[in-house]
Amino acid sequence: MERRIAVLGATGSIGRQALQVIAANPALELVAATSGSTRIDGLAPVTQVGGDATDVLEQTEPDVVLNGIVGFSGIHATLWALERGVALALANKESLVAAGDLAREAWARGGGLLLPVDSEHSAAFQLLGDMPRDQVRGLVLTASGGPFRGRSRDELEDVTPAAALAHPTWRMGPKITIDSATLANKGLELIEAHFLFDLPYDAIEVVVHPTSVVHAIVRLRDGASLAHVGYPDMRVPISFALTHPHREPTPLQQLDFAGGLRLEFDEPDLETFPLLALAREAGERGGTFPCAFNAANEAAVQAFLEGRIRFLDIDGAVADALARVDGAPARDVDELIEADRSARNLVAVA
Ligand code: MG
Repeated sequence: MERRIAVLGATGSIGRQALQVIAANPALELVAATSGSTRIDGLAPVTQVGGDATDVLEQTEPDVVLNGIVGFSGIHATLWALERGVALALANKESLVAAGDLAREAWARGGGLLLPVDSEHSAAFQLLGDMPRDQVRGLVLTASGGPFRGRSRDELEDVTPAAALAHPTWRMGPKITIDSATLANKGLELIEAHFLFDLPYDAIEVVVHPTSVVHAIVRLRDGASLAHVGYPDMRVPISFALTHPHREPTPLQQLDFAGGLRLEFDEPDLETFPLLALAREAGERGGTFPCAFNAANEAAVQAFLEGRIRFLDIDGAVADALARVDGAPARDVDELIEADRSARNLVAVA
C-alpha cells in the first residue's frame, strides 16, 4: 500500500494531525499541502497558500485528497475528488452538507471512496461496513454537548468567544468549536450522515454523551445495537481514512474499561440549542436549505468571533436567513455558490 496524499488545510487542526499520521507511516507519502493564508513553504513537495486548492490537485494527481479546509470554500476540492473517483478523506463536512445531492451525483459518477474524517461518521462507516441496508434500523450520532451543556439560555447571555472556545473533550479549530457549543456542528453532522449513508433523517438520532467515548451507534432491526468506542482523538479517524481498508497502529491508548469508564446518554436540549432542530428541518426540506443553513451559520459564527453579535444571536441569525431563502435545488455549482452567497448576505446585512 503506497499512497500519495494531498493535505488541504494543512495548518488547521485536522491538517496538522494528518501530517503526523503521514509522517509516522512510511507507506503514506505527502505530495501536496495547502493552507488558507499561513506560509507553508517546504512542508510538502508542492505547496499552495490561498487560491483554488484544486490547482495543486490537478498538478500532483494524488491517490487520496484529505480535505481539511474549513467551511464552504472546501467545496471545489470535494467535488474535484468525487467527480474523478479519487479517494476523498473528508473532514470538510460543510462541503458535503452544502453540495448534498450534487455531491452524491458527482460521487456516483466518479465511483471512488468517500471516507469520512469526522469521528462520528468514521465510526458509523466502520460499523456499517457492507452490512445489507435493510438490516439497519437507524444511526445514533453522539454529541458531547459542548462547554454549555446543562445551561439555560438565561445563563448564556454573556458568553464570550473565549468561553465558547473551551471545549470539554475535543481540541479543535475555532469554527467547529463554536459549532460544538451551539450544537450546529451536530446539526451539520446529521445532514452529513444523511448524504454519506443515504439514511432518511428520521432514522438518524442525536444523543448527548458527555465523555465522547462512544462515537456512533448503529441500530439493527433485530434489536441489537453496535457501538464504536474509543478515546476522543482525531488521529484514529484520520489514520483509518488514509490507510483504509488496513488499520495501522496509532499512539493512542487503548480504552481503560476497568478504570471507571462512564457511558451516559441524554437528550439534546433543543430549546437552549435550537440550531440542531433548525439543521434537521433544513435537511428535511432539502434543496439548498442545507446549503443556506451552513452559509448563515458560517457567517453568524464569524460575526460572533469578531464580537459583532452575541452568542445567543447566532441561532436567530440562522433562523432568519432560512426563513428568507427560497431553498430551490441547485442544478450546478454556480447555483450552489449563489445560494451560499445569498444566505451569507442575509446574515451580513442583518
Ligand atoms: Mg464530529
